[in-house]
Amino acid sequence: MKKTALKGIWMIVFIAMGLHVYSQVAKRIYYADENLVPDAHPMDFTHLTLQVSFELESSKVVGNVLHDFTVLTAETDTLFIHGIGITISEAELDGKTVDFTKVDGGFVFKFQNTMHSGEKHRLGISYTAEPIKGIYFIGWNDPTGRCRKQIWTQGQGIDNRHWIPMYDLPNDKITTDIYVDMDKQYQVLSNGVLESKKNQKDGKTKWHYRMKDPHATYLIMLGIGDYKIKKSKSSNGTAMNFYYYPDWEYRVNSTYKYSEDMMRFMEEETWIAYPWPSYSQIPVQDFIYGAMENTSATIFGDFFFVDDNAYLDQNYVRVNAHELAHQWFGDYVTARTSAHTWLQESFATHYDLSYQRIAFGQDYFDWARRQATLSAIEASKTDLKPLAHSSAGTARHYPKGSYVLQMLRDVAGNDNFKKAINYYLQKHAFGNVDSEDLLVAFHESTGLSLDWFWEEWIYKGGEPHYKVGFEKLSSEKGTFGRFSVEQIYEINELTGLFKMPIDFEIHFTDGTSISKNVMVEKTYQTIDVPIVEQKQISYVLFDPGSKVMKTVDFKKSDEMLFNQALSAKSCLDRYDAVVALRETPFDEKKVNTYKTIFERPEFHAVRTEILRQSAADISGLELWHKSLSDKDVEVRKQGLGLSNTINPLYLNDYEKLLKDSSYEIVEMALEMLCKSRPDDCKKYLDQTAKIDGAIGKNVRAKWLALSYLQSSDQVYLDELVDLTSNSFEFRTRMNAANELKSLNYLDRNAVINMFNALFSFNARLRNPIKDVLAEFALQPQHRELMQQVISEGNWNELEKRRLNLLHL
Ligand SMILES: [Zn+2]
Repeated sequence: MKKTALKGIWMIVFIAMGLHVYSQVAKRIYYADENLVPDAHPMDFTHLTLQVSFELESSKVVGNVLHDFTVLTAETDTLFIHGIGITISEAELDGKTVDFTKVDGGFVFKFQNTMHSGEKHRLGISYTAEPIKGIYFIGWNDPTGRCRKQIWTQGQGIDNRHWIPMYDLPNDKITTDIYVDMDKQYQVLSNGVLESKKNQKDGKTKWHYRMKDPHATYLIMLGIGDYKIKKSKSSNGTAMNFYYYPDWEYRVNSTYKYSEDMMRFMEEETWIAYPWPSYSQIPVQDFIYGAMENTSATIFGDFFFVDDNAYLDQNYVRVNAHELAHQWFGDYVTARTSAHTWLQESFATHYDLSYQRIAFGQDYFDWARRQATLSAIEASKTDLKPLAHSSAGTARHYPKGSYVLQMLRDVAGNDNFKKAINYYLQKHAFGNVDSEDLLVAFHESTGLSLDWFWEEWIYKGGEPHYKVGFEKLSSEKGTFGRFSVEQIYEINELTGLFKMPIDFEIHFTDGTSISKNVMVEKTYQTIDVPIVEQKQISYVLFDPGSKVMKTVDFKKSDEMLFNQALSAKSCLDRYDAVVALRETPFDEKKVNTYKTIFERPEFHAVRTEILRQSAADISGLELWHKSLSDKDVEVRKQGLGLSNTINPLYLNDYEKLLKDSSYEIVEMALEMLCKSRPDDCKKYLDQTAKIDGAIGKNVRAKWLALSYLQSSDQVYLDELVDLTSNSFEFRTRMNAANELKSLNYLDRNAVINMFNALFSFNARLRNPIKDVLAEFALQPQHRELMQQVISEGNWNELEKRRLNLLHL
């Protein structure tokens, strides 16, 4: 209680200082950004009515679209519409044929009469599209019929224009009616409410979805395939639809875990009820990203669709929370241009992390913030782009921005933060925003003047680097601890001097502590914390819990580090202490301290760091042995990863790992056992013969490779080659290709399958496969085989370009 009260006082002091000293930012320098300013849009598009059907084998879209719009500009007689790979057969304005010309990136329509501001018109377009982006056809060309058959879309950034001719920029929002004709055995999902679903004479079903609130065109979606739906409701009654493959029903609960609670969480965080009529989530195969927050209908990669075991290696929880947060941040309020992408991605990441804290605990939250710091600092080595920049990059738009929002929350105070966010969302509901709008929202709703924070963390780049020292001193005024803080990074136009409130803590051997929060804002500053002379200092902390994103140099004695590792409240401070002890030789003190920490309930990052360090010492054997049966999957993975060979004494421990709940561990253990004990390999293979593994069949692919090594039976190679074909999802294909590479086996079918992967729209398949093929190509016999397959084929332009990348 006392500690909190003290912090409150310091916060007030700091805000007062902010008002006086920093409320005016004299000069604002932006890192040049060509995407800062939105395009002009002389028309305000209000409603889109789309009717589409498909030519499945040739991946074509046949469509008809009606655009209702109001003229904004004073007068005009032309209109530009985006559209790539689209052929328009007919266009009408208000029911009369209208002339159009194909131009770069779209079409220009020329009207006979001049249009004037305020007039309402309707443009109708009949078209076919042969899209290379935006909409993806999965499995319709698999000759074996084993692949799932799907159609799904990915509109962000600007790809929906490849299958719908429309004004396709986020600064104009529309309501939508979407009609889809599809073979009746498939489910069709789109945005908003399913208005009707009618069987037609041609054997197809016509689906009609309506979104009655305006949303951005990049959020228009389709998800089509063989699905079942689990229906649920959030605590305040929002309908939630969880789509799943009928053969994966057993994975539904582990995949969609916490979904309803996330909805409650986001509504409590924003004080705004979920803004759309319902919320659906649909997994798709070979998705090119992790997931996409289409309005009311999130698409996610089916590699997140996990059973209870795969959940341990990778799960959907975080991404699930992230996409849900986007329904407010991105869909409800939308960045005016990509220069303000952080207003979407940083918020979605901030809330997904905050939800992770609820689901997995504070340590996970802190550890993710640490990874965010490392990636931001790494990015700053390349350039100093600020968060509010269209090409700031993933490391900044996602983790750094999430951290910055947490700092903003700390600086403004939690209640102020939530009040300002609620105000911002309400003020800009169904509209567009830029970085300044959020700043203004804080000012208007809470009275806070946070220009200085925007200046440091949003409009400028870089992160602070502090050099910290500590000494205990006495003077006539009494005894005190003196911290010295120096900001030691280069200050220039792109990175200013950082001003942040920072906690200074002194911990004593009697278990008590004293803390002081000070605004650190000068290049050099000393902070004195009065202490009772008789008390022994145990350890000291600068910014406990790493509230501020930064690098710190702070040399401490081994004694202090041991105490910090044992007692600090935040896992980050305990972890940092253990890392700082890396060079300290193992003596009785270090051995005992590490043993104590390793054996108590402790975050895996701290324990695995201890495990790695201890591997160099005789004392490490005991800890390592325990790690193999540890209940924390990350510790077991680390323990297994530290083994080079199998010590017969511990054979039993390794063998148990063949039944581990983590598929990654099963794969690692199987390989290690077979390679170390070839005579027993057959036994191990029999035990694991029925395990497919995670979504990429990681265990099966490894099992096939080991079975071949064990038996030299071609049947295993054939199955591996088959797994590289387009009957399978991309991770399976990659895993199988990698096993073939490790066996150095390539045949004609494998070449054909891998070429096919090279032509994929999915960079996460074609890039790794290109590397595998390039490595095979180093050997003359494989090179010749590839050349032969190329000479026999009839390749289109794209295929030729991709094959040329192999430099055969
Ligand atoms: Zn996102």
